[in-house]
Amino acid sequence: MTDNITNPLVEEYINKYYKPLNEQLHHLREYAEENHIPIILRETESFLLQLLRWNSPKRILEIGTSMGYSASCFATVCEGSRILTVENNEEIFERAVETIGDLDLSERIHVFLGDAVDVMERLIYKTNVEGLDQFDFIFIDAAKSHYRRFFDVALKLVKDKGMIVCDNALMNGRTVSDTYDRLNKHKTNMTNMREFIDYITTMKGVITTLIPVGDGLTLSIVNKE
Ligand code: SAH
Ligand code: MG
Repeated sequence: MTDNITNPLVEEYINKYYKPLNEQLHHLREYAEENHIPIILRETESFLLQLLRWNSPKRILEIGTSMGYSASCFATVCEGSRILTVENNEEIFERAVETIGDLDLSERIHVFLGDAVDVMERLIYKTNVEGLDQFDFIFIDAAKSHYRRFFDVALKLVKDKGMIVCDNALMNGRTVSDTYDRLNKHKTNMTNMREFIDYITTMKGVITTLIPVGDGLTLSIVNKE
């Protein structure tokens, strides 16, 4: 795989030690991989779940549900957590609701149908007016050219000292160099992602670091005081 952002042998070695959380999630991953449905990579899953085990967040928000795979992993390792996840594609949304039901996680994972920014704005209203708690952990994993919009709204929903993680920040290396855009198809996404990374790494009150796991992650800790 020439698209990996890390040495493929290193990745293969690390993933030899990957362990699925349970049989059902194992099947779900295999199904997604066989059908080219986007879900977090194995090494991304291992890394994020380790963060979550360490920190045991109680309230999690996810932008980009797809089949509900990552949300179900988060719910499985964070016992007692509640997860809100947003998906804008109706067909995919319905699949996610069904999958989460089959996994018996519907009580703790709530899937919203709609554009992430619209849904988050409604959540801000609920937070400010109706006293809904803010989130300990926000995972952004949706349309890459909108990360800045997602992040700006996420800032209003995250708790003090909470964390916002963005997936696919390195976009198969294309964020790093134009040479990875061999067919010259991703100019806008590349420009947007580079600007986004400059934006969140220089923002006051936010400490961001880039991690070359999977397709690249940004980890931002938000200090509100
Ligand atoms: N987090 C999932 C994968 C998400 S893939 C997992 O690892 O299991 C990204 C998803 O984001 C897609 O299903 C896509 O339909 C959805 N999406 C893209 N733009 C969006 C938007 N503006 N609002 C909500 N969902 C969006
Ligand atoms: Mg992703």
